[in-house]
Amino acid sequence: IAMAMRDPRFIGKPEETVPRRLTLRISEQPSIQDLIPAEELALGCLLQGHDALPVLDAMGRDRPLFEQGLATLKTIERESPELGPFDGMVETETPALPTAAERSFSPTALERYATCPFQYFAEKVLRLEPVQRPRHDHLPPLTLGTLIHESLRLSYERLVLLQWPDDLLIEATVQSTVNVAVSDTFAAHAASQGTGHALLWTLACEQVTELVAAAVSSDQAEYQATGFRPVAFEAAAQGIVPLESDASTVFLKIHGTLDRVDYRAEPPALRIVDYKFKQGNEITAADRNLALSAVRGFRLQPPLYARMTLPSLPPPTDVQLLFLAPEWKQPIARSTFDAGLWTGHTGDMIRQTLSTLIQGIARREFFILPDGYCDYCEFSGACRRHDAMAWWRSYRSPQARVLRKLRKQKISDE
Ligand code: SF4
Repeated sequence: IAMAMRDPRFIGKPEETVPRRLTLRISEQPSIQDLIPAEELALGCLLQGHDALPVLDAMGRDRPLFEQGLATLKTIERESPELGPFDGMVETETPALPTAAERSFSPTALERYATCPFQYFAEKVLRLEPVQRPRHDHLPPLTLGTLIHESLRLSYERLVLLQWPDDLLIEATVQSTVNVAVSDTFAAHAASQGTGHALLWTLACEQVTELVAAAVSSDQAEYQATGFRPVAFEAAAQGIVPLESDASTVFLKIHGTLDRVDYRAEPPALRIVDYKFKQGNEITAADRNLALSAVRGFRLQPPLYARMTLPSLPPPTDVQLLFLAPEWKQPIARSTFDAGLWTGHTGDMIRQTLSTLIQGIARREFFILPDGYCDYCEFSGACRRHDAMAWWRSYRSPQARVLRKLRKQKISDE
């Protein structure tokens, strides 16, 4: 700048303001069109509503590609609340609901769709691999979750072999069984996938050991109070849910892997237990009230696990989420979904929610549905929620309204 200010061509000349916008620059000084680069000239033509094709042809640019891009932009930026092909509407025809014979869903896949249809599309249809962002304070949540589940499975399997919980084992035996199971789990994981940061790995191992020991102690007390004891781990299960209360025509086929199955001999009852590792400070409303969360589509594992069956075991009487939450006041907590809720009004509402979800999947409606969870979305890199019109349609389109309405449903206590 200093050199330019000493240049005789500028000395004594009044300061000139050059607008930043190309359209303003051209309108203030049309003669610059003779001097600006061809790319800017083409852009100027477009912004002023003129035909840019002759310029692009002269530049030897790909005309069909340009025309296609222009048409796409017009579609994306149209002022209409209706979702289009660039908003995740992959197909527009309306096939019938998938029947049980056609397709089986996992509860987590349906939860994914209820949260955000584009997330479901990215994970279940496109099978994109989520980006793993490196963490500096703890291991990646997915790794930690796997280590906890595996440590719990191994600990309980070994304890059951020692006749726990029927036999009251001394505390040292329980603790050493847990210690060995957790360290075997971590060693196996380290051998196949490495440890990452050594200090975080050691801290995670200590934290998991503490949590698993606390869970075992809580389950011992639960056994004494209710009589439930673990009988199966990582069990594959299936089920069929009639989507109309008269159980007549439309069915949803479901499958899943149950973390743990507990059985009580007298009175006979079967409980499905699902482990949840939580990193927040307190339990959320969605985790506390599982019936309401099911109706709203937030938590579908509890109601759907309640409809699954296992060979030679009776149908489940309830599903329990067992929270392992190091930051909560009670690091081990439980929420329960009573399978009997399926027979009442809540059951009808859950059926309605499930119908809405599988209709959306069947119609291949994979639009974005932004909300607070976007901050943690593993697929945000592939999402167009920052585009103003895409964001607007994600609130105003009829399809988005239907899913958002599910989240506001209320239930009466049954
Ligand atoms: S960032 Fe939000 S809107 Fe986009 S895919 Fe993820 S959850 Fe959906």
